[in-house]
Amino acid sequence: MSSIALLSKTQIANKRVIVRSDFDVSLRGRKIADETRIQHALPTIELLLKHHNRLVIISKLNRPKERDEDHSMKIVAHDLKKYLPGYEIKVIDDFLTEDKKTFTDQTEKEILLLENIRFYPEEKTNDLNFAKKLSELGEVFVLDAFAMAHRKESSVTGIPHFLPSFAGLQLEEEMEAITHVLDHAHKPFVAIMGGAKIPDKLAFLAKLIELSDYLLVGGGIGNTMLLAQGYEIGKSLCEPSEKEHVKHLFALAKKHHTQIVLPTDLVGTERGAERIIPINQIPKDFSAFDIGPETQAQFGNIISQAATIVWNGPFGYIEDPRFTRGTDFLYYAITDNEKAFSLVGGGDTLAAISKKEYLNKISHISTGGGAMLEYIENGTLPGIEALKSH
Ligand code: ADP
Ligand code: MG
Repeated sequence: MSSIALLSKTQIANKRVIVRSDFDVSLRGRKIADETRIQHALPTIELLLKHHNRLVIISKLNRPKERDEDHSMKIVAHDLKKYLPGYEIKVIDDFLTEDKKTFTDQTEKEILLLENIRFYPEEKTNDLNFAKKLSELGEVFVLDAFAMAHRKESSVTGIPHFLPSFAGLQLEEEMEAITHVLDHAHKPFVAIMGGAKIPDKLAFLAKLIELSDYLLVGGGIGNTMLLAQGYEIGKSLCEPSEKEHVKHLFALAKKHHTQIVLPTDLVGTERGAERIIPINQIPKDFSAFDIGPETQAQFGNIISQAATIVWNGPFGYIEDPRFTRGTDFLYYAITDNEKAFSLVGGGDTLAAISKKEYLNKISHISTGGGAMLEYIENGTLPGIEALKSH
């Protein structure tokens, strides 16, 4: 960490600063389901504003296929306004064609928020020409979007090629919390994995398996592991092509004496009817959408004895209120264990818990899911490396 320049250790004042923030909030239609990511982005923005910098902020929002109003940064700008009274937040529809004056005449009281950066295909392909055009909007770059730091995209790893670049306060805090888990974890260490981004997450489980004593799995990850262990899981969300990979993870767990604990019962629907079924009796047209009560009890027991807990990914299809019970139970089991150091992260995981009580009983809430896992796995991320080499 010492070799990257930190915003917290540098006075940046009276500059035009490009900030790669993370405003990638969970949406329900055009409504923000969870503001946690916006709140975590504020300290860096407020610090830079305090020192009279003029900000151009970049973020992505969700995964738009093309330019569309449902993924417009206007949704975020509206919410951000409430946290930054006294500032005008201007959404720049297209910075490439925008009148240059908008940037040159920007006042200290104006924040320019570029439209969803994923509206440009060049962002995802990490086009350096595009990154250069972005870099021309400022004199200094601050990367604060921890949850994006595992992605090689123009606004993350591209811009640092062209500008003096710093790690923002959020990025620094996230790195510190995860480093703490890696270096000072007490045992028993319980890792908990759920969610839908199955191949992405399975790719970064080796180190976590090595570190932990128990790996509790649910959601799409759990289903895929059940499938790889030979269970029939019907029409449930899973990734059959990951079967071999999962077998490799089981072998790794054996080597490190880590117990991978699978659900023993699942909640879901069979031709529309809601059912709870033991995993050895899943019918072909059953879709699992949550863990069952027996699994909750078993997982709760393990969590209650943990000294370190890392959790990413909901255990059910939480967008449907019928299937939030397993994820809620996990949350309460984790916050009930007051002696453990707990690290909880992921966009949808935050959406599932952020309005609950006892949030202060979680030691560190990470805005990143995939980024958190990849940082644990590799001890660094492409976005962090990009800050080093320039
Ligand atoms: P995070 O954003 O916290 O890293 P993911 O993006 O990997 O988590 O996964 C979140 C998604 O996983 C949610 O949209 C949730 O509905 C879905 N999910 C979890 N379990 C299931 C399940 N059993 N069936 C269908 N979807 C599930
Ligand atoms: Mg997600």
